[in-house]
Amino acid sequence: MQMTTTKDFAEKLDREDSLKEYRSKFYMPPGKTRAEQLYFTGNSLGLQPKTVESYLQQELEDWKKYGVEGHFHGKNPWFSYHHFFEKEAKVVGAKTDEVVVMNNLTVNLHLLLVSFYRPSKSRYKIIMEAGAFPSDMYVIESQVKHHGFDYNDAVIEMKPREGEHALRTEDIIAKINETGDELALLFFSGVQYYTGQVFNIKELTAAAHKVGALAGFDCAHAAGNIKMELHDWNVDFAAWCTYKYMNSGPGGVSGVFVHEKHGNNPDTPRFAGWWGHKESERFQMKRGYIPEPGAAGWQLSNAPVLTMAAHKASLDMFDEVGMDVLVEKGTKLNAFLEQVVIDAQNANPKLEFEIITPEERGCQLSMLTNENGKALFDYLTEHDVIADWREPNVIRLAPVPLYNSFMDIWEFGELLKNF
Ligand SMILES: *Cc1c(COP(=O)(O)O)cnc(C)c1O
Repeated sequence: MQMTTTKDFAEKLDREDSLKEYRSKFYMPPGKTRAEQLYFTGNSLGLQPKTVESYLQQELEDWKKYGVEGHFHGKNPWFSYHHFFEKEAKVVGAKTDEVVVMNNLTVNLHLLLVSFYRPSKSRYKIIMEAGAFPSDMYVIESQVKHHGFDYNDAVIEMKPREGEHALRTEDIIAKINETGDELALLFFSGVQYYTGQVFNIKELTAAAHKVGALAGFDCAHAAGNIKMELHDWNVDFAAWCTYKYMNSGPGGVSGVFVHEKHGNNPDTPRFAGWWGHKESERFQMKRGYIPEPGAAGWQLSNAPVLTMAAHKASLDMFDEVGMDVLVEKGTKLNAFLEQVVIDAQNANPKLEFEIITPEERGCQLSMLTNENGKALFDYLTEHDVIADWREPNVIRLAPVPLYNSFMDIWEFGELLKNF
């Protein structure tokens, strides 16, 4: 998309923005050199919705007033608290029962692999992207070791072609076919955290299924960022955190998707705990685990209500807006950012970097810098641009549709020109 990057045009885009009133529903952190930071790290920690405080207050009040009876008599009874998060399914394109909110992301990945990485002697390989988020690398490494396999034999890491920064879908599919009946699991991110590449979840899932493998996705950078149809795409399982694009606060809870074909089968193997037990009998304290149908049957512990309350505040806002509107604005913001960055580069020969985010992208632009990269990043930080530095030399920027404006981006561009 070609756009002009004048101040007038940025102001015009802001005036016409159907989400413009949402910025004031967030706390924008104050800057040192300006009233508000230019905050472009919603992909790392989303900003705080102003409603979070009252949602938390509600649970604190019920705890104060009811003590243990808050489980049944609170305004939002804690016994069935996870039901207040059924809207989460809409964010990722799932059926209500296919999604549950619980634990943290890495914990959930392990729980899901207990169910969906069940290697045999001959079918035990995992295909994943090289340079995955470290937690995911450690998860996979420890899982294959746990099953007695050698990492280098069991895990196939996919790298982009020489001279390219993004993986090609055709190359991943070729590797899936080549691995064939040795492949147990395709495990990819939905959106690559470093490059911002959006993977073709639908096609990769279909290819994995064709050779008899399962397909699971870490959607940490996808949830609340891109449009997904996890159910229709027939994905086996997925998990994500809610504190990045979904603004639910540091260490906030994680979402889990289990396709109904597995979730409604009580024989799908899993680790169990009392909160996933058939809800109507949960407090009967009997022997014999009977899972709740759906993803809820993967719950272990009682709900961490205080962190979940913060997520509820944010989720209600997501539900009000809807992913279609978010994605529409996000696409525009990101296109504007790209054009601003290119124009700045043309205006200032000191700016030496390459955009490595491919066309398949959500709200993120990754700039691969050279040895001047750190100086540029420090300059931006001094001027209250909150971006993200990833070793060895990438600056990541995530303009997010709920609270970033086109003027944020324009002002960022002016700073770039003056570097
Ligand atoms: C952010 C992120 C995580 C973080 O995991 P936590 O368990 O929430 O600390 C894991 N994986 C990916 C791909 C991420 O982007």
